Amino acid sequence: MSTSECIFCRIAAGEVPTTIVHENYHTIAFRDLHPKAPVHILIIPKKHIASIDAVTEDDRGVMGALFTAARDIARTEGVAESGYRVVMNTGKAAGQTVGHAHLHLMAGRDFAWPPG
Ligand code: AMP
Repeated sequence: MSTSECIFCRIAAGEVPTTIVHENYHTIAFRDLHPKAPVHILIIPKKHIASIDAVTEDDRGVMGALFTAARDIARTEGVAESGYRVVMNTGKAAGQTVGHAHLHLMAGRDFAWPPG
């Protein structure tokens, strides 16, 4: 898929309106269009990486940046103490619907384990 066809690349490029909550050199984060929790934020690499399965050794810094962004956003959203869940669906069976790696950060309610 070219980046011009990827909805999350288009969001990262500012071509699709969304509610951006955080941005740094490697990542951008915005509110999910169809939130499944009171706080539901997607954190994406600006670089197009299709999924964890497509990650290379060169992407270690980028992937680490997703988690430090999650930490910072959780603090900003006021959910760091109460707790939150981060999820990265990878592939069809896991429910990945957008082919650009993204970390779901969800909070504001109790979560079941194991997930469905
Ligand atoms: P996944 O099913 O793990 O691939 O997650 C994709 C997520 O992207 C879903 O939770 C969608 O609601 C969300 N989503 C899709 N398009 C947009 C968009 N334009 N803005 C914000 N969130 C979106």
